[in-house]
Amino acid sequence: MKNKRKIEIKNPRLQRVRNSLRNLIIEATSARKMEMRTRMKELETSNDGTQRRLRDLTPDELKEYRTLQQKKARLGEYLRQSICLCLTCGKRDRDMVYNKSQFSWYCTECYGEQHRHAKKLTRTKQEDLTYVDKKSGSYYDTFL
Ligand SMILES: [Zn+2]
Repeated sequence: MKNKRKIEIKNPRLQRVRNSLRNLIIEATSARKMEMRTRMKELETSNDGTQRRLRDLTPDELKEYRTLQQKKARLGEYLRQSICLCLTCGKRDRDMVYNKSQFSWYCTECYGEQHRHAKKLTRTKQEDLTYVDKKSGSYYDTFL
């Protein structure tokens, strides 16, 4: 894949199909994460309803808890890196641009804003850059 890749759908019917598929994936991911959270809550709660600390779990329970924690985090990361939603604004119904350097998809609007800001930074004299601009320069360079 190129460093930047724009996926654009002009046909409104195909846009609806795309949006439905994205929503389906996002909802399925949320449902799976909720199942994992529910199981983690069960492990965190003793039979009398009081809160258990992680150090009170048996080794098998702790192993299951950590596995669920990792899987849940990984699912969230996969969703954030997917084309299903814009990393910046979270919108699901837009055409998207992939920024390989960031391993992420951005809607065309947010990508455009980042690109314009990156171009502005290249035209700004080094001594006129703010501290934040200097620190985030390499991030913005990936949008050029
Ligand atoms: Zn966006």
